[in-house]
Amino acid sequence: MKFSQYHLSTDELNDWNMPNKRIIFSTRSGTSILLEEPIYQQAIKNDFSSIPKEIYNTLLSKEFIVPQDQDEYQHVVVKNKQKREEANFLSMTIQPTANCQLGCHYCGQTHSTDYAKDDVIEKYVERIESIFSKKTVYNGLSITWYGGEPLMGYSSIVKASKKMRAACESRGFHYMSNMITNGVSLKPKLFEELVNTCRVTNYQITLDGTAKSHNQRRVTKKGGAGTFDIIIKNILAVTSMPLFEEENCGITIRVNIDKTNSDEVEALIDFINDNKLQGKVSIYFAPITDFGGNDASKDSLSLEDFAQREIDWLFKCYEYGISISEILPRRSYSVCMVQNEDSEVWDAYGNIYTCWEFPYTEYSSDEHKIGNLFKPEETYNKNATLRNWAEVVDKGDVWCKTCELLPVCNGGCPKIWEEGNPACPPFKSNYKEKLALDYFIRKSADETEENKDLISA
Ligand code: SF4
Ligand code: SF4
Repeated sequence: MKFSQYHLSTDELNDWNMPNKRIIFSTRSGTSILLEEPIYQQAIKNDFSSIPKEIYNTLLSKEFIVPQDQDEYQHVVVKNKQKREEANFLSMTIQPTANCQLGCHYCGQTHSTDYAKDDVIEKYVERIESIFSKKTVYNGLSITWYGGEPLMGYSSIVKASKKMRAACESRGFHYMSNMITNGVSLKPKLFEELVNTCRVTNYQITLDGTAKSHNQRRVTKKGGAGTFDIIIKNILAVTSMPLFEEENCGITIRVNIDKTNSDEVEALIDFINDNKLQGKVSIYFAPITDFGGNDASKDSLSLEDFAQREIDWLFKCYEYGISISEILPRRSYSVCMVQNEDSEVWDAYGNIYTCWEFPYTEYSSDEHKIGNLFKPEETYNKNATLRNWAEVVDKGDVWCKTCELLPVCNGGCPKIWEEGNPACPPFKSNYKEKLALDYFIRKSADETEENKDLISA
C-alpha cells in the first residue's frame, strides 16, 4: 500500500494551539482528518507498520492509503467517467431571454429584448422528451434558469416549467430548478409563483458589496441607477415569507470581486449580520474573470491576494454565523456541465451550447454551437467547443493532470483555460487556512461528540 498522491496537508498546527498535529485532506474522498504529526511523517514514507489499527482503517477507507500499484490518475479518470454515466438527473440550463435591465461593466453579453417564444419552448420540451426516451438512466430533471436576466423572460419560464414538470410527472420523475438572477424583479408575488408553479427553490443573487460599491457596478442600463436597495428589499421580503422555509428555499449571495470593490466586502458581511439574514442566505465570493472574451479580469486581484482576502472574509462570516456556500470542495466527477454529454445550454432562439457563458456573447457564433433545436439531431456537433475537456487534461495541455487537486477541481473552468489563462480556484492557494477554518467550525458546532471532529467527509 502507499500514501495517496491526492492529499493536501496543513503545516503543524502550532499557531492554532494544537502542537504536534496537522490536518490532512484527501481530494479523492473529500475528507479531512486531524492527525498526530509522527503518524503523518510515517504515512508519507509509506511506513504503516506502527500506525494504530483504527487510524489505519480510517486512512484506508477515506482513500489516504491506496494500493501500491494503482495508477491514481487513471483510477480517478475512470471513476469520474463511470459516475457521469450513472448520473440519474438530466441537467439543462435555459437562458430564456437575451434581455437584462442592468449594464454591469464586467458582463460580456449583448442584450436585446428577444425571449423564447412558444415554438422555442416546444423545442425545449421535445429535446428533453427525446433524451428521456433514449436513455433509461434518468429519473429526474434539473433546470437552471440563467440569462440575460431570466426574470425578463418570466412568461417563458412559467410556460416551459409547466410543460417540463408535466413531462416529468407523466414518467414519475423528479423535477427541480434553480435560478441565477440579479434579484431586481424577485418580488414576493412572483417568488410565490416561481416556487409553487415552477418549482424554482434555489436562487443565486449578486451583491457587489453594500450600496456604496454595488451601486457603482450593478446599475440600470437606463439612467445608470443603483439597484442595491431594491434587491435587498426583495431578499428581506421573500426570506420572511413562510413559503421560504416551508419549501426549504435557499438564496446564495454571490459577490463578484476585483480590486475596485474588495475593500467593500466586509461592509456587506456586516450588513447581512445587521439585517439578521444569517440562516436565510449563504454567501459566495467569486473573483471576476473574463466573460465572453470581454477582458473583465483586467482589475482582478492576483489569485494569492484573493485567496488571502477570502480567508479574512470567511472568518468574519464564521464569527457572525453566516453560512458559507462551501469551505472545502467536495469530490466531483465532472468539471462542470461541459463534461456531461447530455447537459446543454439553450438560448431564446433554440441554439444549443456546452457552456452558459456562450449565448449572447462573442462565443455565440456557429463554430461554438452544438446545434439548434429546430434542426435534426444528426446535424449536432458532439465535439462542440469545450466538450473534449477530458482529452485536453489527458494530453497535458493544462496543468491539471499532475495536480493533487484534480479529484475535487477537475480543472476549474475549461473556458478560462481555453482563453489561455490558468483557472485554478482560490482553494489552491488558501487550502491550509481553509482546512483549519473548517475544522474549527465543525468543532464549535459539536464540542460534545468526541472524535467526530476529527473526520469530515
Ligand atoms: S466552462 Fe466555465 S463558464 Fe462554462 S459552464 Fe464550465 S465553469 Fe461555467
Ligand atoms: S485548475 Fe488548477 S487547481 Fe484545478 S486541477 Fe487544474 S491545475 Fe489543479
